[in-house]
Amino acid sequence: MRGVAPAQFPPPVDPPQEFIGPPTDAEDERIEVGIAIVGGGPAGLACAIRLTQLLEHEPELTEKLGEVPVAVIEKGKTPGAHLLSGANMRPSAMRELFPDMDESEWPVLWKVEKDAVYLLTKKQALPLKPMPPNFRNHGNYVVSIAQLGRWLGEKAEEAGVYILPETTADKLLVEDRIVVGVRTGDKGRDRDGQPLSNFEPGSDVVAKATVLAEGTLGHLTFAAQDYFDLHGDDPQRWELGVKEVWEVPKPLDRVIHTMGWPLRKSARWNEFGGSFIYPMGEDKVAIGFVAGLDNTDASFSVHDVLQEFKLHPFVKKILDGGKRVAWGAKTIPSGGYFAMPRKFAVPGMCIAGDAAGMVNIPELKGIHYAMHAGMYAAEAIVDALKQDSINYEAYDKRVRESMIVQDIYRSRNMRQPFEHGFFLGGAIASAMTITRGAFPNGHWRQEPDAAHPMVIDGAAKHYPAPDGKYTFDKLSSVFASGNATRDDAPNHIRIQRKVPLEVAQTWVSMCPAQVYEIPEEELEAAQNGHGDGTVDVQVVPSNCVQCGAITAKGGRLTPPEGGDGPLYTQV
Ligand SMILES: Cc1cc2nc3c(=O)[nH]c(=O)nc-3n(C[C@H](O)[C@H](O)[C@H](O)COP(=O)(O)OP(=O)(O)OC[C@H]3O[C@@H](n4cnc5c(N)ncnc54)[C@H](O)[C@@H]3O)c2cc1C
Ligand code: SF4
Repeated sequence: MRGVAPAQFPPPVDPPQEFIGPPTDAEDERIEVGIAIVGGGPAGLACAIRLTQLLEHEPELTEKLGEVPVAVIEKGKTPGAHLLSGANMRPSAMRELFPDMDESEWPVLWKVEKDAVYLLTKKQALPLKPMPPNFRNHGNYVVSIAQLGRWLGEKAEEAGVYILPETTADKLLVEDRIVVGVRTGDKGRDRDGQPLSNFEPGSDVVAKATVLAEGTLGHLTFAAQDYFDLHGDDPQRWELGVKEVWEVPKPLDRVIHTMGWPLRKSARWNEFGGSFIYPMGEDKVAIGFVAGLDNTDASFSVHDVLQEFKLHPFVKKILDGGKRVAWGAKTIPSGGYFAMPRKFAVPGMCIAGDAAGMVNIPELKGIHYAMHAGMYAAEAIVDALKQDSINYEAYDKRVRESMIVQDIYRSRNMRQPFEHGFFLGGAIASAMTITRGAFPNGHWRQEPDAAHPMVIDGAAKHYPAPDGKYTFDKLSSVFASGNATRDDAPNHIRIQRKVPLEVAQTWVSMCPAQVYEIPEEELEAAQNGHGDGTVDVQVVPSNCVQCGAITAKGGRLTPPEGGDGPLYTQV
């Protein structure tokens, strides 16, 4: 078989060993909270808010939960700082969480009244009519999830939730196979891991319930899945989305999705994905490109695909006279139903949202599922704690009987056929939509993204040179993400450093933030067939925007120091 699979060069990491263990602080030094929620995204914050609503009617239980009944641990500088999404949100979860609030009070930017899907060729944009049903967004709201996160964070704090920003949950605390909380990460180490003058060690945060709402590629979620044997039938896999926000002179009047160009159609490269262009009120648009990480060309870069995409005449017209005001990148779990964990709860712990793969990829929707799951977790936890139990299995049952699993089950075989190329894949996926999931039946197996052999095969040939007006390089984009991580921050990326050129090039091209580099002379030697074909990969961890792609493609992202990474405000 041609090429080299990144999976052949696994990262130096042993998650259950390194990231799971009993509390280590002396008992009187531990921070005690009632319910610890890891992640201040839609899942975690909806869970926190719902908990406060329920506890209002449970004074006895609230008393038992101590001084801090509900705490949210968030690694970003503030809730929302690490959130990136399209975002075209279904309103069901907001309605359920805030039943008495008028929708005009929600932090939304545009109500979808018109939407369109186009098939792009290099020069043309052909409208798809009738529109595939999975692209219908009428009645949804366009939001900036970075802003929604901040707003939900404020609502949570007003309701009495204790939010710990700039704090990573580094280790899952487990005693006798019961989850009893998390240990937060140290702060103030130098590049070699040595403590600086401002060093602060992490602490054990012990809780009666722990909710993992870490989002895509959750650090503790992975460790917990290994430790408790929770992995689903198929391995999880991911898409990578790169997004920009543009100020534009002319308002956009519809939600737009595109398929086709600039992705190549042949099954050989496995390039699956598409774009979204969403109005963000009168003067801004969100524009993003999402592509599967199971692609096989080591020179493929989603960031550069987005730059190329913006030069299409149809797209350029929307951006003309405008200016880019924000940029970011993040992965989305796309393994679907068969890749969801075998169980969403174990004694002492629940997993909610993207961390549990609760995403409907054909519809590109996850926000409302994450919020509903967070609320279900809150309800199951309160019911159990009222009976002095830490068994949250009712949450598992609730999710499986809900529209979360039902919707995701309907599209269970929709992503896989695209491995056979755009047209065949598209035809099978359409059949699945039309038959509401009845055809193709059975279980189409999936491979991990990192198991696909990589070849350097020409994807980069067409990428435009950055002009600073429509197209931008990766480094100026990292700046536009608000990332101001200090240069001497410890390295949080685990990879094998000496790998074949194909693997190294995969990481260099894939990473939207230019974290990986191959020294010039080594690149030249490997390209000219000198040496053993391997190169040394250099890492610049401070550029990392924590999109998670490296974990999908053969490395491992561990949490950096709390507060590091992007400071998203508009994406
Ligand atoms: C490009 C793109 C476009 C999308 N478009 C849409 C769309 O249009 N509509 C839609 O409904 N969905 C969309 N989605 C999916 C949607 O954004 C997610 O499903 C949703 O954000 C999941 O919410 P969550 O709370 O589970 O996780 P997240 O939103 O990822 O939040 C997780 C939070 O946990 C924090 N965290 C993680 N690990 C730790 C740790 N160990 N310690 C402390 N904090 C931690 C993170 O910093 C983050 O704030 C899109 C996603 C992407 C990437
Ligand atoms: S190094 Fe950071 S930004 Fe780059 S691919 Fe990995 S997680 Fe994403």
